[in-house]
Amino acid sequence: MARYIFVTGGVVSSLGKGLSSASLGYLLKSQGYKVRIRKMDPYLNVDPGTMSPFQHGEVFVTDDGAETDLDLGHYERFTDISAKQSDNITTGRIYSDIIKKERKGGYLGKTVQVIPHVTDRIKEFIKKDITNEDFVICEIGGTIGDIESLPFLEAIRQFSNEIGRQKSLFIHLTLVPFMKSSDEIKTKPTQHSVKELRSIGIQPDIVICRSEQSIPIDQKRKISLFCNVSIENVIETVDVKTIYEAPISFFDQKLDKQVLKYFKIKSKRKPNLNPWKKITNTVLNTRKTIDIAIIGKYVNLKDAYKSLDEALIHGGIQNKVKINLIRIESDKLKLNNIRIKLKNASGILIPGGFGKRGTEGKIACIKYAREKKIPFLGICFGMQMAIIEFARNVLKINNAGSTELDKKIYPVIGLINEWSKDGVIIKGTDMDLGGTMRLGLYNAVLKNNSAIKNIYKLNKIKERHRHRYEVNNNLREKFEKKGLMFSGMSPDNKLPEIIELKNHPWFIGVQFHPEFKSRPLKPHPLFSSFIKASKSHYER
Ligand code: GLN
Repeated sequence: MARYIFVTGGVVSSLGKGLSSASLGYLLKSQGYKVRIRKMDPYLNVDPGTMSPFQHGEVFVTDDGAETDLDLGHYERFTDISAKQSDNITTGRIYSDIIKKERKGGYLGKTVQVIPHVTDRIKEFIKKDITNEDFVICEIGGTIGDIESLPFLEAIRQFSNEIGRQKSLFIHLTLVPFMKSSDEIKTKPTQHSVKELRSIGIQPDIVICRSEQSIPIDQKRKISLFCNVSIENVIETVDVKTIYEAPISFFDQKLDKQVLKYFKIKSKRKPNLNPWKKITNTVLNTRKTIDIAIIGKYVNLKDAYKSLDEALIHGGIQNKVKINLIRIESDKLKLNNIRIKLKNASGILIPGGFGKRGTEGKIACIKYAREKKIPFLGICFGMQMAIIEFARNVLKINNAGSTELDKKIYPVIGLINEWSKDGVIIKGTDMDLGGTMRLGLYNAVLKNNSAIKNIYKLNKIKERHRHRYEVNNNLREKFEKKGLMFSGMSPDNKLPEIIELKNHPWFIGVQFHPEFKSRPLKPHPLFSSFIKASKSHYER
């Protein structure tokens, strides 16, 4: 039976629970164990799909088409284990399932309550779809003390009681602040956070203390004493210079060793940290920097394009250059200052997006990249904008546009009402906003003699999608005659998946989101190639 590791956080949010879970996942996987990482989110949205990136950061899409919390991206990037729909649950999803069941009379007239009905549903989620995993790491979103996370904490308490303490481990992550005025490290917030956790019936087995500097042994003893954990299980995590150092740092602090010791398991082999050491070294010692411009709506929010930022860094590591992201807010872009804004850009990227605001600025930047022969990568909305730009300025269809933005245009981008995936017809219109998109992995067939085939070195690829609108394939010949090739198509040859410009050093648009599949230890070929081209442009 799988062993369960529950990760909670206290004192403040954003302590790096996701990164800690992901690093532990890597350390265990690298010793030959089968690992799953799951996230429970206490908010009432059914999934983060309709949440604004301003509030919640990026929506991470899995192979099987789930719109999930961005922490699942951390897990995937560190462990290279593809997350699934069943790895992320929210309070909203749980309540929505319960209410559906209640309406159908599924509770046979009983009063439906948080305990046991909500907690039972959470416990079902924890176990769901687990077969031969050695470890299941479950991260609980939010901070101890929040009202919202209480049912989750109660559920994991019950769950641990049911499967036994020898099969379940509680890790609590807290902040150990340094007070400049008294030149002291403070353990009180940690003590209080653990006290709060214990009042709900959860005694942590390991306390991970996030701190700006190393915690002296006396302070560790204090945490051990007051929090009722052994001193070896007080693990410090001092701010790392790059996140790629995290698995190394947790290994040095013996996190994986203490976890295995708790479960009375002998390590099969030492985790391999060489690849992390190598890339940490590269990141810390790379001097050459190139500017990549990202033009989008949410560029000033740190996590809104998390996977994208990461994928660009991965491409940079591969090419031994540092990436300086110039984030340009598209709706603040004036048409007459584009040249100045993009003056230093060695590459231009338009990411995914929704809605009209800022689109004219994006289209003008694409025109600039196309004419000035600056490497350009358009992702999803970015590719759709590139099609509009080309249709307007090269094919001279002045009113070319997307029906997403305006109905009174010539639709070079539009809605396909139906398409088939594995024989199932999915409706594209007339539905709630949640759940009407082409989501998850789809195949694309790459054309011979194309730049894209040269990049992937494959005939057929599978990439993750998240969009409603498609490129109108009826204009394909017109586009191709003028040098914009549809170099990747859906297997039935109906949906354009990749476009590229013939007479340009590097101009590619993709309907999917390659950033979700890039890993620090396995950079995505498209990003490596884009950065390589941008580096050449810089060196020109
Ligand atoms: N808004 C566009 C669509 O729905 C693009 C979405 C995206 O960029 N992810 O098709």
